[in-house]
Amino acid sequence: MERIYNFSAGPAVLPREVLEQARDDLVNWQGCGMSVMEMSHRGKEYMGIQAQAEADLRELMGIPGNYKVLFLQGGASSQFAMVPMNLYRGKASADFLNTGEWSKKAIKEAKKFGAVNVVASSEDRNFTYAPAQDAWRTDPGAAYLHYTPNETIGGVEIFWTPDAGDVPLVADMSSNILSRPMDVSKFGLIYAGAQKNIGPAGVTVVIVRDDLLGQTVPGTPTMFDYKTHADNESMYNTPPTYGIYIAGLVFKWLKAKGGLTEMERINRHKAGLLYDCLDASAFFQSPVAPENRSLMNIPFTLKDAALDEDFLKGAKARGLVQLKGHRSVGGMRASIYNAMPVEGVQALVDYMKEFEKARG
Ligand SMILES: *Cc1c(COP(=O)(O)O)cnc(C)c1O
Repeated sequence: MERIYNFSAGPAVLPREVLEQARDDLVNWQGCGMSVMEMSHRGKEYMGIQAQAEADLRELMGIPGNYKVLFLQGGASSQFAMVPMNLYRGKASADFLNTGEWSKKAIKEAKKFGAVNVVASSEDRNFTYAPAQDAWRTDPGAAYLHYTPNETIGGVEIFWTPDAGDVPLVADMSSNILSRPMDVSKFGLIYAGAQKNIGPAGVTVVIVRDDLLGQTVPGTPTMFDYKTHADNESMYNTPPTYGIYIAGLVFKWLKAKGGLTEMERINRHKAGLLYDCLDASAFFQSPVAPENRSLMNIPFTLKDAALDEDFLKGAKARGLVQLKGHRSVGGMRASIYNAMPVEGVQALVDYMKEFEKARG
């Protein structure tokens, strides 16, 4: 079978060029006689791979020198606990914006370590928008302010960076990191599971300002202390070496493509194709407020949910897969991360128009 167009929310599509490079390197990386999977993480070959991956990520995102880049495990879900363990720093309460399913999970976990002040919530309209910052009730004494700039399930993205004043701003960027330029210096900490827009599952990237390190809550396990990993170049224990290697290939691919400014242009073009199709149609609908329509995850519904199964079946027959919406939202969801080619989005739009004509 030829490669299909995979609209999965994660693990998600990877660039074909990256997979081909990995294939060529699989058994014998650059003539060194072994696979990256077999290398000691303390050997010079692997250490070079990881150092290059970090350098390329720093270049792509413009990460300032006073920030540490950590390659961890445990997914973004472990960060829901690791962030409060490291960032409460003796303060009573942390601020959280609640814009959907991932925000809720982060809030639930933080409550195990301290008080949580929900500055605003969009639950009143089923998490289909993001509350404007002038409606947030922030606490100037908060330990940190946490938000989810792209809610992967609801397809709600926040395109502006909140002003947190002197309070460290923390972002779960699992599904929109590297999709467009962001000013890292505005954040105290950024985290992201790799399996959406970075690489394979099993790697978690944390970017943390160095003054926030070293003040964990009592009893924090060694492995849950960012400082452990910062002091040891993410090699306190065995890092997820193969995943970091693939992430490094993705960073090289992004650089070759023209970096994040160019990615944003392409991502806006791809998302535009799909949103234009939704807006022009009386049959398909986007539930999300126009100013918060995600460039990465695009949920949509059919006018008649009884046609969902037929729509998915027809899509699959054309090599368009993983379009079923999250069970909490229903309908469809197309995830169109960096690695989804524009041809894939165009094929989906063509199919949608055809389906509407035949069944609408
Ligand atoms: C996927 C996702 C998570 C969970 O990631 P895991 O790596 O599976 O723990 C958390 N937050 C957001 C925004 C996500 O998209």
